[in-house]
Amino acid sequence: MSFQDLPAPLQAALTGRGYAEPTPVQSAVLQPETAGRDLLVSAQTGSGKTVAYGLALAPELMGDAPRLPPAAAPLALIVAPTRELALQVKAELAWLYAPAGGRIVSCVGGMDPVAERRMLSHGAHIVVGTPGRLRDHLERGNLDPSALRAVVLDEADEMLDLGFQEELEAILEEVPEGRRTLMFSATVPRGIAALAKGYQRDALRIEA
Ligand code: AMP
Repeated sequence: MSFQDLPAPLQAALTGRGYAEPTPVQSAVLQPETAGRDLLVSAQTGSGKTVAYGLALAPELMGDAPRLPPAAAPLALIVAPTRELALQVKAELAWLYAPAGGRIVSCVGGMDPVAERRMLSHGAHIVVGTPGRLRDHLERGNLDPSALRAVVLDEADEMLDLGFQEELEAILEEVPEGRRTLMFSATVPRGIAALAKGYQRDALRIEA
């Protein structure tokens, strides 16, 4: 798979950034047989995993349209273990989806929840955040899960190590049944395998 098969605005973003070739994990998640499937991916930081799931979500976000639809209830939710990682993911997806008209909102512990609620009320294509804060916004009705087509758990093993299992399960219980669930994890200990079994459907295992 090469970047030439991607929607034009994503190609433009990658070219603008000077990224000519997919990294191994990007190649792997963009193989035709992964389309629409749940994925359990072993990937380290630095492997290009953020762009990998950003690109993998293009069909759920854009369909065949040349650009994203106007921002409304979010289409994809990304859960990350720390504020730093969540904000880094937001920055990475912001440049990737800028030419497509993407609006990305972050919801992270330690930031002003009222400001986040206001951002959410203006609509988003992608919401990225930390487990506790995302659960709060879901419980308070600030974050509408009804249109979600995909959920990504980034550094899933790290989230379990930090004690976020309950928050992750609460979030996964709230999102529509038919969504796609992508799990990225450096390692796949028993807790991750159990989470995958409970919340993914026939996941494809990828070790890039
Ligand atoms: P990550 O593993 O998502 O933390 O990404 C590590 C770094 O690799 C980030 O700075 C990315 O922007 C960069 N990166 C992602 N994809 C590519 C690519 N195809 N070519 C070169 N650098 C990339």
